[in-house]
Amino acid sequence: MHVGFIGLGAMGQGMAANLLSAGHTVTVWNRSQAPLDALKSQGAHIAETPAQVASGGVVLSMLADDAAVRAVLLDGGVLDALPTGGVHVNHATISVRLARELSDLHTARDVHYVAAPVFGRPDMAAAGKLHVVCAGDRNSLERVQPLFDAVGQRTWPLGDDPVRASVAKIAGNFMLASAIESMAEASALTRAHGIEAADFLEIMTQTLFAAPAYQGYGKLIAESRYEPAGFPVRLGFKDVGLALEAGDDARVPLPFAGVAREALLEALAGGGGERDWASLATVAARRANLDDRDKN
Ligand code: NAP
Repeated sequence: MHVGFIGLGAMGQGMAANLLSAGHTVTVWNRSQAPLDALKSQGAHIAETPAQVASGGVVLSMLADDAAVRAVLLDGGVLDALPTGGVHVNHATISVRLARELSDLHTARDVHYVAAPVFGRPDMAAAGKLHVVCAGDRNSLERVQPLFDAVGQRTWPLGDDPVRASVAKIAGNFMLASAIESMAEASALTRAHGIEAADFLEIMTQTLFAAPAYQGYGKLIAESRYEPAGFPVRLGFKDVGLALEAGDDARVPLPFAGVAREALLEALAGGGGERDWASLATVAARRANLDDRDKN
């Protein structure tokens, strides 16, 4: 399939590379140059402008946040350049409000919007092992399934309203933030009483919390390893904010999200925006007057 791909950040680079490996013809655009050079050497075509990637009729985007999506997809003319009947697949984690707006804007232009946010960090993106949560009209979902097969290990369809996929992703990341914050606070507690975080977290993640989220982030906390970030505090703060906003709109209180937001804001204020959000453990440690154990 001929596809355009916009946004070659930590996630997009691996995803675009896997589309190429699966035999698709991929034209890429990115704001900065370095990732373009890497993809070119793997066989991608390079577009001069974002709108150029739309000519084939199928565009995938993996941009950072709402502002980037607005700047590139709307102001950058990608949506306007999609031919009638074209499909835009948005893999980024964006607000429910923007998901709704994009859905309407696409419909008004006779093009299709598929929301397909993903679970999995950059290593899983590079390995083609993402979980793709998607929603959009049935024909479009069928059309882009081979692309999902190239980037992911499993697709989780959620119906025809794209907003549903966006809200599921936001809710999932809120659960991750809660898991990290609870491990951060609990390991500060054990450390204050003489038990190393690594010893405590090994027990928990081999017994009651033997799940990938706890095991993956528990290991980062146990090893105080926060750089390079798989998922930076900057993006975690964005996502918890998206959960709170979606909760406000639907009148759903999310008290834990408020706690996680404050901790992430504290990490940001301390200059830690580019560290992995597992570094919430250092915020909890500081609050308990424990040393940071920061090996970075
Ligand atoms: P990232 O490494 O920060 O990459 C962001 C991408 O957006 C880059 O291509 C960047 O271009 C581009 N961008 C940002 N602002 C822009 C603007 N104003 N105009 C044009 N381009 C802009 O982020 P990521 O980790 O790949 O994440 C991408 C999306 O996936 C986010 O919505 C994130 O929440 C979600 N996500 C991330 C993970 C993860 O573990 N990292 C997992 C699941 C979902 P430059 O290269 O020029 O900076």
